Amino acid sequence: MDRSYLIKPQIGGKLPEISFGRGVYLYGADGRDYLDGSSGAITCSIGHGIKEVAEAMHTQAKKISFVYRSQFTSAAAEALAAKIAEWLPGDLNHSFFVNSGSEAAETAMKMAIQYWQEKGEPSKTIVLSRWRSYHGITMGALSLSGFPERRERFQYHMSGVPDIAPPYCARCPFGKVYPECGLMCAEDLERSIKRRGRQNIAAFIAEPIVGAAGACLVPPAGYYEKIREICTANEILFIADEVMTGMGRTGNVLGIQHWDCQPDLAVLGKGLGAGYAPIAAVVATDRVMEAFLQGSRSIMSGHTYSANPQSAAASLAVLQYIENNHLILNAEQQGDRLKTMITELDEPFIGDVRGKGLLIGIELVQDRASMKPFLKKQAAGARLIELAFKNGLLLYPASAGVEGGDGDAVIAAPPLTINDRELAEF
Ligand code: PLP
Repeated sequence: MDRSYLIKPQIGGKLPEISFGRGVYLYGADGRDYLDGSSGAITCSIGHGIKEVAEAMHTQAKKISFVYRSQFTSAAAEALAAKIAEWLPGDLNHSFFVNSGSEAAETAMKMAIQYWQEKGEPSKTIVLSRWRSYHGITMGALSLSGFPERRERFQYHMSGVPDIAPPYCARCPFGKVYPECGLMCAEDLERSIKRRGRQNIAAFIAEPIVGAAGACLVPPAGYYEKIREICTANEILFIADEVMTGMGRTGNVLGIQHWDCQPDLAVLGKGLGAGYAPIAAVVATDRVMEAFLQGSRSIMSGHTYSANPQSAAASLAVLQYIENNHLILNAEQQGDRLKTMITELDEPFIGDVRGKGLLIGIELVQDRASMKPFLKKQAAGARLIELAFKNGLLLYPASAGVEGGDGDAVIAAPPLTINDRELAEF
């Protein structure tokens, strides 16, 4: 048998090999090149082969790559935590570092539960989430994910509670139209809290703009303001899962900043390391941190590689690069252009084009007039992705459409560095 490493599409097949990357392009060992229209998995937000990041990593590796988080801190981890606090809105000032988005979402879940224990309210243990959401692949993060295809096999190990309707205006779960709907999708949170009892609920977690599970669902104006109001009134924490939307991707530092809503915990991943190193974080407000300081003074979580200086140095150089090159502004401007270009394609199979900045979802339908969805088994998204791939463009798969997780879509999310010429080529 072939001695390959195990990765889904590779079982029984071989992936093409990449030799190197430069900016928005990837160059294959077979001489083919690709425009990275998905930043890998919406990750490589500053593009490939950035010299400044490579140099920062080289310098750090020569000093020290690893210290154990409970024995030592490092200048790199301290500087990164300070930079994140400077970037993030309000008093989201306290970073807890982990290595992947799943770990970060799961850590946020645990921190929310522990927060209420520290406050003397141990019955508050349920973490609510929405249908049509994705928070990660480890058991806790998966349990928060309202993504039937991914959770089905493991349903007997699920502790999170996806119970809230998604803010999906193109196919409103209540059959309403905004603004006459009165934001019933946000009020759905209140219904769930009432049914389960606020004394049992620790937090509500949501992706500000739904990624893979909904192909960039942008809730309407007022949605997160209402969510914040409901969370505050019922004394439950609001966790913004910014793994896909964070660190500039949508034209703001955080996706939630498109609304007037301050989360209690923010979850960062993907673009934080931008593909240069595995790093993710949970960022807490002063108020949340205060409960830990007044209580047990420890967070009951952590991984061997948490806050390792090597990843921290890479991430710090990534954020510096974004700042120096004004890439958040570029994401906003080029995102608007790309969205317009895709909309103007005027193809009957493009049912909806949505998203913010350089996070653009394209819902594929059999016929735009009726919005009749392609079912997953028809593999319209997979075929579009394959066709684009053959033509040297990378796109990312997503779900959309009818309830139950079926329906098809793709995501366009090139690096935030993309310029006019590359955009035209895209
Ligand atoms: N949260 C969101 C919103 C994501 O999009 C993802 C990954 O796609 C995750 C969490 C999990 O991140 P990771 O794949 O790094 O574990």
